[in-house]
Amino acid sequence: MSFKNVVLTFYILAKRRYMQLFTEIKLLQHHIKSQKLSQKTIGFVPTMGTLHSGHISLLEQSKAENDLTICSIYINPTQFTNQEDLENYPRKLEDDKIILEKSGCDILFAPSDMEMYPSQSGMTISFDPLEKVMEGKFRKGHFSGVALIIAKFFNIIQPDKAYFGQKDIQQYFIVAQLVKELFFPVQLKCIPTVREEDGLAMSSRNRRLTPALRKKAPKIHEALIVAGELLRNNQPINEIKGKVRELFSTDNDFQLEYFEIADGESLELLEEAPPQGKVVICIAIYLGKIRLIDNVFLFL
Ligand code: AMP
Repeated sequence: MSFKNVVLTFYILAKRRYMQLFTEIKLLQHHIKSQKLSQKTIGFVPTMGTLHSGHISLLEQSKAENDLTICSIYINPTQFTNQEDLENYPRKLEDDKIILEKSGCDILFAPSDMEMYPSQSGMTISFDPLEKVMEGKFRKGHFSGVALIIAKFFNIIQPDKAYFGQKDIQQYFIVAQLVKELFFPVQLKCIPTVREEDGLAMSSRNRRLTPALRKKAPKIHEALIVAGELLRNNQPINEIKGKVRELFSTDNDFQLEYFEIADGESLELLEEAPPQGKVVICIAIYLGKIRLIDNVFLFL
């Protein structure tokens, strides 16, 4: 290696910012305090790991808008309504660390269950009527768990901005309500869904699909697009629902859980399309044993 290249390598290494890993709340808070003293703004990206480009789009948005980006990886037990789902949820912390480091994440917070739930009080939070439909209806207690962990993270990290994916649109609405009700001084950002080339919404759960099921998966997004076109052509919502049900009924690998069309501002379920405005078309469906969700917005 030439002298010039040696100098260049040292320069790059010296300039490079390494990601810091925290597993303890106290140490993380101590670090954040010192960063806030130097007026740094903080962006927060909560995840459950097994990272893909969807997560990274949240991270990149945060990096563009804040001085420091903190990503959490924590598989939150209280938001799982099915023990088997929790046990089978993919765990890839070592791979995730490499991905985050490469993507320029400043801080990874990866706490243990004991750290996040030391008292195991069983505290719950309810969101009426938002939790009564779609994900909330079929996964009772799920949003209480989501809200609890997000409230804990917001209190610990006190971010200026927090980033969530449109892919989990109802979760975004729940967090928005939590922030409003509890006066959390944080600005929420909803980032568009990142998809595979064939339209399938990226998800950590996609890894659990067999190659044969993976081939069938784009049909979920296709159904949302077809439904959107029907809605634009003034087809009544109950007929659209019937057509979507029919679309999946011929293949036993699919088990439709719900298909709904909701108001894009309130998430209230619609029985009739409004003459104009924003609607969101939502689906939850089992493909084999894997439960997948997706949604698209439509402007009428
Ligand atoms: P998860 O790790 O599944 O809890 O997701 C963490 C965050 O990433 C949530 O705010 C999700 O909505 C978001 N997210 C997951 N998949 C995608 C995707 N395909 N595109 C954009 N954001 C996503």
